[in-house]
Amino acid sequence: AVRFAAACKSFGDTRVLDRFDLDIPRGEKTVIIGPSGSGKSTLLRILMTLEGIESGRVEICGETLTDRFDGVERAPRGRGRLRKIRGHVGMVFQQFNLFPHMSALENVACGPRLSLRRSRVEAEAEAEALLRRVGLGDKLGSYPLQLSGGQQQRVAIARAMALRPEVMLFDEVTSALDPELIGEVLAVMRELASETSLTMLVVTHQMGVARALADRVCFLENGRLVEQGPPEQVLDAPENPRTREFLHALN
Ligand code: ATP
Ligand code: MG
Repeated sequence: AVRFAAACKSFGDTRVLDRFDLDIPRGEKTVIIGPSGSGKSTLLRILMTLEGIESGRVEICGETLTDRFDGVERAPRGRGRLRKIRGHVGMVFQQFNLFPHMSALENVACGPRLSLRRSRVEAEAEAEALLRRVGLGDKLGSYPLQLSGGQQQRVAIARAMALRPEVMLFDEVTSALDPELIGEVLAVMRELASETSLTMLVVTHQMGVARALADRVCFLENGRLVEQGPPEQVLDAPENPRTREFLHALN
């Protein structure tokens, strides 16, 4: 569902992705770990079309998002096309980014109303179902400031899901939460992982989160995929000395 091929991305002199390859089949739950500054968020931002690349190719759900060679873009252009590809992808960030002046229900319903042209009644019915699913059926009318961090993050997940993505990106979604709130957000992500065919790409520095979700763990360093495999291999018996060092430093 997601493929990077020889993708290069720099900010000034900093090379963030260096001929980066990654192939994620539809439905797979991939967790990305790696040191600060290794390019994890940049990877997700490229998939959200928030960043471009200098060369290489990125595909989402069988469509080419970008394909650059010698500075020339070879993928077909057009705003409608990009909007369509973007519609396949949902994202949740570390900072909850809910609209503060909207209730939980409105936060979840507003996307489908605007971009899927759903009626208010239809969008709110769907939003209510999604909020129940993330355990917030009793908080429909609450505003973000009246919710805990864990509750806000669950609203953010419901809001992303409301646009019916095929690929969901999660960037450190439990990192800003108190330990007792991590579990409730992780439970929602686990439920999505086991009950849906969503392709999930999860960036985290919490190995418990990685273990709970991953079909595959990827260790990223200096814009390269250093090691990848099932969590019991990468996290418990890493082969690469850099992976070993990174995991060791966390303990
Ligand atoms: P962390 O674990 O701290 O979130 P990360 O792996 O997500 O790190 P990125 O945010 O992808 O790392 O950043 C990779 C590198 O690119 C870093 O060196 C960062 O300083 C740089 N970088 C990211 N965004 C920009 C930007 N908009 N302008 C300039 N440099 C940037
Ligand atoms: Mg980051």
